[in-house]
Amino acid sequence: MGDNMLNGNLKLALQKNGRLTEKSLNLLKSCDIDIEEYSARLIVTARNYNLDILLLRDDDIPEYVMDGVADIGIVGEDVLYEKKANVDVVRKLGYGKCKLSLAIPESQTLEDLSELNGKRIATSFPNILKSYLTQNNINATVVEISGSVEIAPSLGVADYICDLVSTGNTLKFNKLKKSFDIFSSQAVLIANKNIENDPDKKSQLDNLLVRIDSALTARKSKYLMMNAPKNSLEKIESIIPSLKSPTILPLADPEMVAVHAVIPTNKFWEIYKDLKEAGASGILLLPIENMIV
Ligand code: ATP
Ligand code: MG
Repeated sequence: MGDNMLNGNLKLALQKNGRLTEKSLNLLKSCDIDIEEYSARLIVTARNYNLDILLLRDDDIPEYVMDGVADIGIVGEDVLYEKKANVDVVRKLGYGKCKLSLAIPESQTLEDLSELNGKRIATSFPNILKSYLTQNNINATVVEISGSVEIAPSLGVADYICDLVSTGNTLKFNKLKKSFDIFSSQAVLIANKNIENDPDKKSQLDNLLVRIDSALTARKSKYLMMNAPKNSLEKIESIIPSLKSPTILPLADPEMVAVHAVIPTNKFWEIYKDLKEAGASGILLLPIENMIV
């Protein structure tokens, strides 16, 4: 590590190899930050930005950021709250979404939370589970297991489990079923608390945040283009869910105009039929790479 640690660059901790790695590197790419090949290394410097990247097990990221080994980090809220690290959550990043759920044997039912009283629940998230139980006044035993939590009920170690569930296939294989969710998680950008008092680091973080915010905003939006008869313009403008009024451009045909607008991605599939019915043609939806609002 040596030299890298002294160069004054902002230090970002990322998961080295796991579910958040590719999406985090993609986010940096959307910020126009290029990372060199890193396969066997613990620390790399961005090619075109003053940023050092520390590649770590995700479990270690909250503590490294808390201790200042890294200035900032990207980690799942599940790991962050489990580790109870005292850091600032700077941004929710919108990826790495998953749920921590309670699962019970297929043959059983669970109608009311109070039925958890007196039960043993196996989990690798003891802190999150315990605080959930406390908040709901449940007195259950939390059995901490570091991996393969699903087998605990069949081994007789626990009655139920609390684990990250994605497809439910692992549960099914172990004759378990999901009962309810106790915690929703997504990837977050965290920062060391002392950055606020370090003007140089603070300004580096603020500069990075401009790029991250622009990339995150752009992801939620698309550039919508279409041609429309002039006489249906009013109707079409009323359909477009744009924040600002759309751009109207003349076309060679004097009766027609081009309409351009930035819209929330998820709205497009609700409005394209209405647009067509109102006379729009040649509808195009284009990705936006960056967006400063
Ligand atoms: P490491 O070797 O770094 O300790 P890990 O095996 O503990 O990795 P991963 O399985 O790679 O961790 O998961 C990393 C994070 O991704 C989790 O903490 C969670 O926030 C998120 N995650 C978990 N499951 C999913 C899923 N199915 N879809 C999206 N994100 C998920
Ligand atoms: Mg881990």
